Amino acid sequence: MQMSLDVTGLHVLIAGVPVESRRVIRRWNAAGAVVRCIESPDAVTPRLLRGVSLAVIVGNQANDDGAWAPLTASCRDLGIPVSVEEPAAPGGRVTLVGGGPGVEDLLTVRALDALREADVVLFDRLAPYRNLAALAPGAELIDVGKTPGNHPVSQANIEKLLVSKAQQGLTVVRLKGGDPFVFGRGGEEVASCRAADIPVSTVPGISSSIAVPAAAGIPVTQRGVAHAFTVVSGHAPLTERELESLAGLGGTIVVLMGVGTLPHLTSGLRRAGMASIVPVAIVEKGYSPEQRTTISTLGGAVTAAGLARCTSPAVVVIGDVVRQHQGCDEALEQALTHPMVASSHPLVAS
Ligand code: SAH
Repeated sequence: MQMSLDVTGLHVLIAGVPVESRRVIRRWNAAGAVVRCIESPDAVTPRLLRGVSLAVIVGNQANDDGAWAPLTASCRDLGIPVSVEEPAAPGGRVTLVGGGPGVEDLLTVRALDALREADVVLFDRLAPYRNLAALAPGAELIDVGKTPGNHPVSQANIEKLLVSKAQQGLTVVRLKGGDPFVFGRGGEEVASCRAADIPVSTVPGISSSIAVPAAAGIPVTQRGVAHAFTVVSGHAPLTERELESLAGLGGTIVVLMGVGTLPHLTSGLRRAGMASIVPVAIVEKGYSPEQRTTISTLGGAVTAAGLARCTSPAVVVIGDVVRQHQGCDEALEQALTHPMVASSHPLVAS
């Protein structure tokens, strides 16, 4: 239902069986209407219709027109318009939705469709959640967001919640930042749903691993510069073997959740033979007004990050592709001649 009319205070009668009408009821409530409900055509009385401006029959036009004929007839007599809306699908299900790097206009069309249909949305801190009430007008919104070191809802409880809401017959959306399967624990959530026999599907999202470098004007691959890129998590420190493989590959290294482990990573890569002059970009808060790119080198990245007070969320890009960032050369020059000073760019267009 696209609500372009102001229906605040409008009395709306919703006719239909509760399990099918719940989403319609929630949408009209969310839009500010005063909702009355009836479950059975026998309940139609003149008193019920008093003050009603619109009647909504929840059901399929062809099947339910007959059953609700008394209501339609009474409304016609009283000049009350009647509309028919699709019922909620029977049986619960879960859709994992990738929300992209945090802004609404980087949600996919399929993600928007899933949100519009949702009865419940469980969302994260990095997902685009600010306008969720409008994007998912029929849904209960549950913040399961995690800030570093603070886990309001544990992963096990998130999975339990997904399953229990779907078992109640609800259409559940699990909205995550970026792509659900890139360091998003999406695989675990799919497994939990499958174990409980809940139908589950995934809507991919634009991963910050590619999109946030792009926001800083950095392509993760470039002909003649890098023909591979590796996305690594900085959540836990890499092993010596992993560091050696990474340094040996010669492509771009993209690190998520890497601010805290930057010293370990940069020193490890240098130990593994990577040159200390390899450029490094730290792109913080991509796509927000506070987006900032700090340019340095592998040898100077920790100092630069410290001076610039870089914080999470940030994507770290290591490799020659960083030179594509506008102003990189000047920043690198500065970083090499004055290794204690890194250049910070306030908002960088893609
Ligand atoms: N599934 C997500 C990644 C989850 S891990 C994806 O595909 O993007 C969380 C990490 O993603 C953060 O610590 C940060 O490194 C990165 N990240 C996500 N959104 C970001 C943003 N808007 N700006 C900078 N980094 C971001």
